[in-house]
Amino acid sequence: MSSLTPHQSTPFSKVLIANRGEIACRVMRSARAMGIATVAVYSDADANARHVREADEAVRIGPAAARDSYLKVDAVLDAAKRTGAGAIHPGYGFLSENADFVTACAEAGIVFIGPPASAISAMGDKSAAKARMHQAGVPLVPGYHGDDQGDELLRAEADQIGYPVLLKASAGGGGKGMRVVESSDGFQAALDGCRRESQAAFGDQRMLIEKYLTQPRHVEVQVFCDRYGNGVYLFERDCSVQRRHQKVLEEAPAPGMSEALRREMGEAAVRAAQEIGYVGAGTVEFLLDASPSSSQEQDGRFYFMEMNTRLQVEHPVTEMITGQDLVAWQLKVAMGDALPCTQDELAIRGHSFEARLYAEDPAQDFLPATGHLEHVGLDLVGAGLDPLQVRLDSGVESGDEVSMHYDPMLAKLIVHGDDRSQALATLNRALAALDVRGVVTNRAFLQRLASHPDFQAAKLDTRFIEHHHDDLF
Ligand code: ADP
Repeated sequence: MSSLTPHQSTPFSKVLIANRGEIACRVMRSARAMGIATVAVYSDADANARHVREADEAVRIGPAAARDSYLKVDAVLDAAKRTGAGAIHPGYGFLSENADFVTACAEAGIVFIGPPASAISAMGDKSAAKARMHQAGVPLVPGYHGDDQGDELLRAEADQIGYPVLLKASAGGGGKGMRVVESSDGFQAALDGCRRESQAAFGDQRMLIEKYLTQPRHVEVQVFCDRYGNGVYLFERDCSVQRRHQKVLEEAPAPGMSEALRREMGEAAVRAAQEIGYVGAGTVEFLLDASPSSSQEQDGRFYFMEMNTRLQVEHPVTEMITGQDLVAWQLKVAMGDALPCTQDELAIRGHSFEARLYAEDPAQDFLPATGHLEHVGLDLVGAGLDPLQVRLDSGVESGDEVSMHYDPMLAKLIVHGDDRSQALATLNRALAALDVRGVVTNRAFLQRLASHPDFQAAKLDTRFIEHHHDDLF
């Protein structure tokens, strides 16, 4: 990228989407609106999937197992070459944060719609990322992320940080290789356990240690950078409502943020991105200390957790409050355009929520559900809902099959309102109007969450579901 001079463009008129489900359909929508032709790829399990039906062209890339299809670099590149696609959009998951894939795209002369490989690598390892962020002056959770991994040293560091601490695999992700340690006595056993888990999942045993915040909020900042050194933040999202470290309900903006804190976090996030030469859409995740002791300070403190070097599942809530199309931004930036607007031109309008609809059974410990979707529908008119305030980003339609091969997320329900309480009322009405038959979903669970008095009162922290277990199940 450094060889590019400002305004050197890399236009493309056809894009391949290396993904499936709702995000593939979502990306195609913006591409189509910009007059860009679309190519879908699919596995045998997805031959009749919605994303295949909606694309201009579709290429089979392998059998059902993701490692033999959606994760197969050669098959995806081959499909792009065969169809003459000038660019690849990776969506989220699959190849989206695979630096080798980005390099392979460059070698094949295909534009990767995302950051340079070096930026992905810089954030891929949690310890290295933290060291880098420290240099850039981005606040970190107190902790240890050094190279020395001796048992004694790690234990001494944990004692020094003060319990409870959180042990995290440097190479980790998806909540794996992570354990809370309550006291010095339990440290060695937890360390051994985490190392084993991390070795099995990532082939790497390096650990980092963090102060364990007992009541944090997960607040993340959407950033965007172009090739010419410009960077902006499109404000924040609160994703505190999580189950097993996976997000369930998201909203933007984060409730209760002062303008000063919003600016401070936004600027820190842009600094983080610029430190690693970032280009495109990215998200910098922070923990915001929401514990009672920190509320004496007006806002609490925030700490860098990680950067996701791709478009996030929850990007639509940001689109709803800013009026921007983030996929269109991605496509333009990948073509070599400068950012569509400056920081001063961005503003927050109203409030937005997103609820993730999963094919899973909350009564059976969220066991993924499969089957024939007899009906999926949202009758906005019948429910008296304004189509401008409700958006359903779906990867399925009535009559589709839901298989066990991939992530069980079927759709995302996104709403907008003039303020948080209006948006929440709309979310509750839209959830009630959402009609899914044939496959078990978490819809009723989402309704219980969204109508919970503490959620309505924005009393949020990452253990919300755990703490309200009796009300929610
Ligand atoms: P992963 O990459 O495996 O998803 P993260 O580092 O992003 O792991 O953390 C996932 C979740 O774990 C966070 O959203 C938060 O809920 C919780 N978490 C992470 N670090 C801490 C911490 N230091 N204290 C308390 N909770 C934490």
